[in-house]
Amino acid sequence: MPSADATVDLLRALIREGCVNDGTRESGQEIRNVRVLQRFLADAVAAGRVETQVLESAPGRASLIARVRGTDPDAPALGLLGHIDVVPVDPEGWSRNPFGGDLIDGEIWGRGAVDMLYLTAAFAAVLREVALAPEPPRGDLVLLAVADEEAGGEFGIHWLVREHPEAVRVTEALSESGGMRMGEHVAIEVAEKGSAGRRLVIRGRPGHASIPYGAQSAAYRVGEVLHRLGEVMPAAQLGELWGAFVAARIDDPALAERLLDPVRLDAALPQLGGIAGYAHAVSRITMSPTVLRAGATHNVIPAVGTIDLDIRTLPGTSDAEVDELIRAVLGDLADGIEIQYLRGWAATSSSAETPLFAAIERAVEAVSGSPVVPIMAAGGSDARVLRELGIPAYGYGVLGPGWTYERYREGVHGHDERIDVESIELSLAALRRIVADRIG
Ligand SMILES: [Zn+2]
Repeated sequence: MPSADATVDLLRALIREGCVNDGTRESGQEIRNVRVLQRFLADAVAAGRVETQVLESAPGRASLIARVRGTDPDAPALGLLGHIDVVPVDPEGWSRNPFGGDLIDGEIWGRGAVDMLYLTAAFAAVLREVALAPEPPRGDLVLLAVADEEAGGEFGIHWLVREHPEAVRVTEALSESGGMRMGEHVAIEVAEKGSAGRRLVIRGRPGHASIPYGAQSAAYRVGEVLHRLGEVMPAAQLGELWGAFVAARIDDPALAERLLDPVRLDAALPQLGGIAGYAHAVSRITMSPTVLRAGATHNVIPAVGTIDLDIRTLPGTSDAEVDELIRAVLGDLADGIEIQYLRGWAATSSSAETPLFAAIERAVEAVSGSPVVPIMAAGGSDARVLRELGIPAYGYGVLGPGWTYERYREGVHGHDERIDVESIELSLAALRRIVADRIG
């Protein structure tokens, strides 16, 4: 097997640039990681085997597209979608320099090591191998090394598909959020929940705060509604992916039976330990109150208050269903409450019946000895933008045997983020097989 050294070196270089995205337009400055990747691909570009484009959505907010052309226009065009930005750090919480890229006892340390620079590096390394191979591939292999994933992709994938659709053209794709171990299985993401933000506008009757008698403070009503939201859990809606998750992760047959019963599921959640939050999230629409507002002046009883809800939907959930669910949860309190729409996007999913998914299953099982389980992510990633275009996209990765879902969650966006060389080797080995299978 070719070594992982090139990928490890590239990963360390990407970490050291510290392309931290704090959500502001000026942050990220991903052009620095674009240059790292350009240097890495320089020999393949010089040999005329890779076409690269640097596309900049705003000053410094650059993405690199690198395409190895295939010989058969009817073959698939496989996209490798990797972001090159990272989230901020709290250096106090780290035991090493978060942007040092240290390699210690077989682990590479640094912000972005897991999310997702190790994969972006592996994507680039395999693309370079394919480019420098004696024979060109049948289909295109395309590295989409993109800016701004961590803040929603407005300066990255959204802008690219809108402004440069030809440059980013692929027919299927791999991205992040896979490879965790679930029981004997390796998880591959096929779906992501959606987001349906809502604002509840709650009205009362104002008055001078010195004479509260007879006034109906919106603040009290906000409190009542908040209390209700905390008491009522939206009911479970179990789909195929839930069944696959339970079968992959739960050994105890009695517990599995309760988890598959929407009525008994909630009472069984505490038995799931560190994975209970994930299980709760992917088994239903969730609602989290995040921003509360009422009143502006100390001595005026507020006439109006608002509660912003972060609502995460399942594939197929409509806006009308979300509004109905809110009214059902509020019950008798719903009267007179206005529901306004905040930012949102639909849940997305790709079929687990595609040729690419079958190739992933074969490759992952061959290198890890473990079968694949398709999962839904509670959060979102850039893969959603491709799925919205009808392009099958999967959250890929093959992490080492110790990487439970809980450990993965802790590593991503947490302190002391680091990835082991074994996980990089596994991910590379399976990726080479997938690429050979689809376009070789
Ligand atoms: Zn990520």
